[in-house]
Amino acid sequence: MVEEDILNEIKGRAGGEVMVNEMMLRHTTLRVGGPAEVFVEPVDLPAFRKLVSWARTMGIVTRVIGSGSNILVPDEGIKGITIRLSSPSFRMIGVRGDEMLCGAGARISDLVKYCIEKGMGGLEFLAAIPGTVGGAVAMNAGAWGRDIAGVIRGVTVVHADGSVSRIGRDGLAFGYRKCSIPRGEFIVSATFGVSCRRSGEIREEVAGHAAERRRRFPEGPSAGSIFKNPPGDYAGRMIEAAGLKGETCGRAQISTVHANFIVNLGGARAVDVLRLIEMAGEAVQRMFSVELEPEIDILSEVTA
Ligand SMILES: Cc1cc2nc3c(=O)[nH]c(=O)nc-3n(C[C@H](O)[C@H](O)[C@H](O)COP(=O)(O)OP(=O)(O)OC[C@H]3O[C@@H](n4cnc5c(N)ncnc54)[C@H](O)[C@@H]3O)c2cc1C
Repeated sequence: MVEEDILNEIKGRAGGEVMVNEMMLRHTTLRVGGPAEVFVEPVDLPAFRKLVSWARTMGIVTRVIGSGSNILVPDEGIKGITIRLSSPSFRMIGVRGDEMLCGAGARISDLVKYCIEKGMGGLEFLAAIPGTVGGAVAMNAGAWGRDIAGVIRGVTVVHADGSVSRIGRDGLAFGYRKCSIPRGEFIVSATFGVSCRRSGEIREEVAGHAAERRRRFPEGPSAGSIFKNPPGDYAGRMIEAAGLKGETCGRAQISTVHANFIVNLGGARAVDVLRLIEMAGEAVQRMFSVELEPEIDILSEVTA
């Protein structure tokens, strides 16, 4: 139970929406997750900075999520302040010369649309990847052999004490679905290198990627790939070979279309999803002596 005066302090700083015990299943693409103790959509950057620095002095955990397309939230919920940068001031997208400047809360789908509109190529690979710019940078999102690391020019980050800094490409390191920005530091905007290209060509490539994704990936609520592919192999192929394609636990299922996806058949709980993750990991370990590493961010109740 959040005390009234703490809640007022949060409201005073955030300016925007503040919700108590907001069910996270409403904010994740898997449609799974218990209540966020406090869920906040700060109105702008100064409000966000004030909120983060105050929470630190109070010892309250803060975390930022995007579209929730790569997270698993426990059924018990998450303590502290969960922040979504969804107000208009975090969603701007603009182009200057050969650089695309985006707020962290901008949707990838809006960015790709904007690129088509402006005739700016280079980000076509992001087509139909769900999520926000902030989430894409944090996860080094990618497809078709390309990723954020290959196009990013820099980010603006809010540190835990509320200070802001700009980090250029040289100050960033990326790996397979990871980036060097530590937890507790938050991306508020990012710039990407782009180049002029005919809108029709971009549109065609984007449509091709989207069609291919529809063909390969299951429909329905999911969090995309559950595991990272191990070197030289595919997690989906290994899970399928281990006989777990279609396996269910409660209302969660290892997809019958792509075994590296877990889908929510309606009413799945995080504990069901976790059990399937465990089963798949153990089966692959037994059969291939390979330890699969989760790609999704499995949140815990008390930490960021
Ligand atoms: C159907 C489907 C298909 C997918 N296909 C792909 C694919 O082809 N390639 C791929 O790479 N991914 C894929 N994904 C996964 C997902 O879409 C990406 O990882 C996406 O970039 C996550 O963005 P998000 O805004 O939803 O982040 P969230 O899921 O909300 O968050 C992911 C992580 O990023 C952190 N984060 C979010 N915003 C910020 C911020 N502003 N500052 C600091 N940290 C932040 C969160 O704390 C969390 O740790 C797929 C997902 C689905 C559901």
